[in-house]
Formats: sequence, structure tokens, C-alpha cells
Amino acid sequence: MHCPFCNKTDTKVIDSRLVSEGHQVRRRRECTCCHERFTTFEGAELVMPKVIKSDGSRQPFDEEKLRRGMTIAAEKRPVSVEQIEQALAKIKSTLRATGEREIKSQIIGNLIMEQLMTLDKVAYIRFASVYRAFEDVSEFGEAIAKLEK
Ligand SMILES: [Zn+2]
Repeated sequence: MHCPFCNKTDTKVIDSRLVSEGHQVRRRRECTCCHERFTTFEGAELVMPKVIKSDGSRQPFDEEKLRRGMTIAAEKRPVSVEQIEQALAKIKSTLRATGEREIKSQIIGNLIMEQLMTLDKVAYIRFASVYRAFEDVSEFGEAIAKLEK
């Protein structure tokens, strides 16, 4: 992989160990060019649960859709791509941890809102306003009231 500092491809592994109870390999790497060190995590890509929409239909989990929604909500806000990726990773591990094979889209929406709430309140309101508009308008008022507290 490319060195994140100088972008050269020649890096060597200087340490490798199992983490997350053996579900991930953490590798400490050093760039042979600029000698900066960085860490990579390797883990199995697990199957995500199917999404149950409000009309009862099932859809495959679409990570890109979540990423797009969060990115649009966070547009021109002090939220980095990195932060969105971390939030996505958290949402995915939360969903996997349920052990469910199917999950209501509502639950995913709530997880996204939870993450955005901690990242940026404006992004949260944007997302919530669009998301809740399809549910119940009064809930949007509640979301804002919560923020004003
Ligand atoms: Zn380098």
C-alpha cells in the first residue's frame, strides 16, 4: 500500500499482532523512503444484514447510500471525510454486532443521526430534517428541541 505521507509504495511491516479478540490484524509499517510509520488494520469483510424498508420490502445493505447521505448532510461543515468513514465503520460494526440477518431501515437512520449528532449539529439537523420528513413532522420539532436544551 501507499505511504500516507510521501505516497511511495515501498513500505515494510515492523510489527504485526492480533487485535479485537483476534478479529483483526494490526500492522505497524514503516516507509522505506521517508521512514514515517503508520498503522493498518486488516479484518474480514463480513456480510451486512439486509435492510427492511418501511413498506416491508428487503434491500441489500448499501454503504454508498449511507456515505452519500452523510456527506450531503455535512457539506460545507467542519466534518472530515475521515470522520465520516469512522462514523460509517461504527454504524457497520453496531449493525453486525446485533447478529440480525435483517434490520429495519429506521434503526440505520437512527444510528446515522446518533453519529452526526456527535460530529456536527448542523449536519445532524439537515439529515434529521430530510430523514424525519418521511416519518413524522412532529419528530423533527423534537429533534430541534433536544438540540436547544
Ligand atoms: Zn513515505
